[in-house]
Amino acid sequence: MDAMVLHALGTPLRAETRPDPVPGPGEIRLKVEACAVCRTDLHVVDGDLPDPMLPIIPGHEIVGRIEALGPGVTGLRPGQRVGVPWLGHSCGQCPYCAEERENLCDSPVFTGFTRDGGFATHTVADARFAFPMAEQADAVALAPLLCAGLIGWRCLSMAGEGRTIGLYGFGAAAHIIAQVCRWQGRRVFAFTRPGDTATQDFARSLGATWAGGSDEPTPETLDAALIFAPVGALVPAALRAVRKGGRVVCGGIHMSDIPAFPYRILWGERQVLSVANLTRRDGAEFLALAPQIGLKMETTRYPLARANEALADLRAGRLQGAAVLVPGMTG
Ligand SMILES: [Zn+2]
Ligand SMILES: [Zn+2]
Repeated sequence: MDAMVLHALGTPLRAETRPDPVPGPGEIRLKVEACAVCRTDLHVVDGDLPDPMLPIIPGHEIVGRIEALGPGVTGLRPGQRVGVPWLGHSCGQCPYCAEERENLCDSPVFTGFTRDGGFATHTVADARFAFPMAEQADAVALAPLLCAGLIGWRCLSMAGEGRTIGLYGFGAAAHIIAQVCRWQGRRVFAFTRPGDTATQDFARSLGATWAGGSDEPTPETLDAALIFAPVGALVPAALRAVRKGGRVVCGGIHMSDIPAFPYRILWGERQVLSVANLTRRDGAEFLALAPQIGLKMETTRYPLARANEALADLRAGRLQGAAVLVPGMTG
């Protein structure tokens, strides 16, 4: 197999050829069709997250076809298309797993962080954490659903039933969740990097009622705000934008420090929450819903060998929607 491998934090991925991985008990081997690039991959590469496995093959928004079943796998068949998300395994024993809050598992395994992921032609996954995916759809359009879509969905669920939703950071997750909000009849207010009129236009094209810079005041008080950008200063900005009783949901795995803010912007039973990882129930719910919404997925495709370029473009904010690595693509 070919893979893009991180050997040392803060260094570029290196192209390598390795023997095809062999699925162990309860595992499946996939031929990767597409793997989207998530901001969390940047945090992995940069060393922002504790206890990475090194060397590691990043990538946790994997769509692929099953090539081989390990011992004891039932309910999946060779040739079937599945998706593999960030939560690659949970212990099944801890108090969180016992409550079906496996996203908070005490001994989790994360795809592309503590087990090898999808920046490769092949990968091995725990069969219990692989989701059957639409067989006919474009794999490139499906891949961003596995994290941007799924974590975005969990954030939106945590935001409650509000009708006016602020989205801070309009990348892969927000471009999906804006469409989900519109489909649900909610109104979307998109906050981008100051001066990024291209992304503001993009947000409006996906149905946002209003789009502007994160330094601008909200034109209407919001019921809830979802923060997808890794910028702690957005927390007080979003608190100022939400109504009494409103929620600010932080969707990223890592954020710069949140600056001090006056208590009065939290007062009024406003809440600040974080969203961690996903449960399999989130996956089943969202992946069943997604085809009904008619999501327009904005993607930029890269051959596997150009993974570093995809990461750099994401870091610089040079793309709209999601970057997706396509192992079969040349160029
Ligand atoms: Zn657990
Ligand atoms: Zn992710």
